[in-house]
Amino acid sequence: MLRKIQKLILVAFSATGLVRVIEPITGGKGAILMLHRVRARPNRAFQPNEHLEITPKFLSTVLSYVKKQGMDFIPLDDMPSRLANPSPRRFVAITLDDASLDNLTDALPVFKAHNCPFTIYTTSGFADRTALPWWMVLEEILLKQPIVDAHSIGGRSAEVVGTTRQKYSVFERLVLRFVALPEDEKQSRISTFAAEHGFDTSALMERNFMNWDHLREIAACPLATIGGHTTSHPMLSRLSEEDADAEVINGARRIEQELGVYPKHFAYPYGKSVAASRAAFKIIERLGFETAVTTRGGILHGAGRERIHALPRLSLNGHYQDTRVLSSLLSGAPYLASSVSKNENLTFAEAEPA
Ligand SMILES: [Zn+2]
Repeated sequence: MLRKIQKLILVAFSATGLVRVIEPITGGKGAILMLHRVRARPNRAFQPNEHLEITPKFLSTVLSYVKKQGMDFIPLDDMPSRLANPSPRRFVAITLDDASLDNLTDALPVFKAHNCPFTIYTTSGFADRTALPWWMVLEEILLKQPIVDAHSIGGRSAEVVGTTRQKYSVFERLVLRFVALPEDEKQSRISTFAAEHGFDTSALMERNFMNWDHLREIAACPLATIGGHTTSHPMLSRLSEEDADAEVINGARRIEQELGVYPKHFAYPYGKSVAASRAAFKIIERLGFETAVTTRGGILHGAGRERIHALPRLSLNGHYQDTRVLSSLLSGAPYLASSVSKNENLTFAEAEPA
């Protein structure tokens, strides 16, 4: 319900024409758009990670819309200079987190058709098949089973998930339980959970994530930038400084080993304050990254008004595939009130998996 109300408000705001009036005042210099997966909508009722995917058609619509607004597409390498530049021309940078296989098969053709630069933040353990996106494993297992034993991930030994409603309800509860587990136990626990249900995680990874050959193919496109997104996708702020360093550096080194270029840009896994705190920003700055992005909602103002290692983004959320919503967000108006801009539960700064 809340989601529908938020969408209605944003669509209505766009329709009033106030967007055009307020944008020169509140619209700042531009924005970074946050995407994850780009693929045709699967034909099934249970899609708890739907917010993390948009269709190729909507991506194309968004890119046409941005161009029509007279905004420039920029690669992240240009971000520091564009933020410092007094030019009034607004810009948009496109980013995709996690390096899903559909980024290559479904999104790349759209980026090429629009000659639009993009950055893919790569979790090296997903490409190496040594880490699991637990939110997808959980979705797939709940999808297929009527009852699951969730004791290994903090749930009950018999969770009834026979209906779509039950699947959603249990998924939401298990996500909260799972997120609260210690970071260094999450990967082994989700592996155990998968094994206990006879679920083939290798097949899931092959179907859904780029391997290094795929990444080399997409990195060869002049429009592509590959950024770092750690080794195993942990909440950095929950790790010791030493462990956080290792997660970031080892992930970046794997990218360099496989693709020949050490990444200059970084995205904090999950990106909200519990996962990306001030301490994490300092680590990323100390490690020499030129830019880093969170999942907090907001547009870019430049002139030192945001930290280059804690940049906000606008989520192209799968629940809101409507350019009128994007138009409202790009105006900056929804972020005017500090109570809104700091509200990490605002759906556009999706709190869960990023
Ligand atoms: Zn991520």
